[in-house]
Amino acid sequence: MARVAIVTGGTRGIGEAISLALKAQGRTVVASYAGNEEKARRFSEAHGIPAYKWDVGDHEACLDGCRRVEAEVGEIDIVVNNAGITRDGTLHKMTFDDWNEVMRINLGGCFNMAKACFPGMRERGWGRIVNIGSINGQAGQYGQVNYAAAKSGIHGFTKALAQEGARFGVTVNAIAPGYVDTDMVAAVPAPVLEKIVAKIPVGRLGQAEEIARGVAFLTSDEGGFVTGSTMSINGGQHMY
Ligand code: NDP
Repeated sequence: MARVAIVTGGTRGIGEAISLALKAQGRTVVASYAGNEEKARRFSEAHGIPAYKWDVGDHEACLDGCRRVEAEVGEIDIVVNNAGITRDGTLHKMTFDDWNEVMRINLGGCFNMAKACFPGMRERGWGRIVNIGSINGQAGQYGQVNYAAAKSGIHGFTKALAQEGARFGVTVNAIAPGYVDTDMVAAVPAPVLEKIVAKIPVGRLGQAEEIARGVAFLTSDEGGFVTGSTMSINGGQHMY
């Protein structure tokens, strides 16, 4: 039977490409989203992938949502924690709410999804978790203390949970994308984006499909010896 994969924020942007890549790989895919109903409906209709709405930053909503997916679709073997937001601003302008919201959704979402799905994976002796971090969690970024801290936290979370999952056939990895052509990057002012692209050695933004291919490998059976790793997919912008 096909393994069930859930992609948070899987109806749009990088998440949409990940949903399609996992479906092409033969997985039974479910996508979650936050509130863009129109996009979720069009995505589901176009690709025959069910979309479930809940806030990944809400612990109870995550547990309920995953139980609903398990009852309606099947036990979840693969989780891709892709949902994320930005609330940018330099520290002196950033509000406590901007800080909390980014931590709650970007980092808290990974914890909430793991709490819902990791125990089942562990019991069944097979699982894959991929957390979408960021180049800005590795290198920092002006105006993003909240986002950089949350994404950096994801990289630590990944390594810690990988140690807990290894004996049980559950791998946990992160991908740190560089700048990818999605709505999130479209929100970056053009002059700032120009400067960013100038620093990317390959000379262009990434495509969502290029991140999705990394996820497809990390969630494959063949990827079973890779755990606790961060795969940088960034056009050479940050190397270490
Ligand atoms: P988009 O803004 O294009 O899409 C974000 C997705 O996340 C949407 O599907 C959205 O749902 C969902 N989402 C947002 N908040 C929540 C929430 N509280 N609960 C559930 N779902 C939520 O983002 P990208 O595709 O650009 O980014 C995807 C991931 O990749 C993010 O984690 C981002 O930080 C990371 N990343 C992106 C980079 C880039 O250059 N684009 C670079 C590095 C990392 P809805 O459609 O309903 O709003």
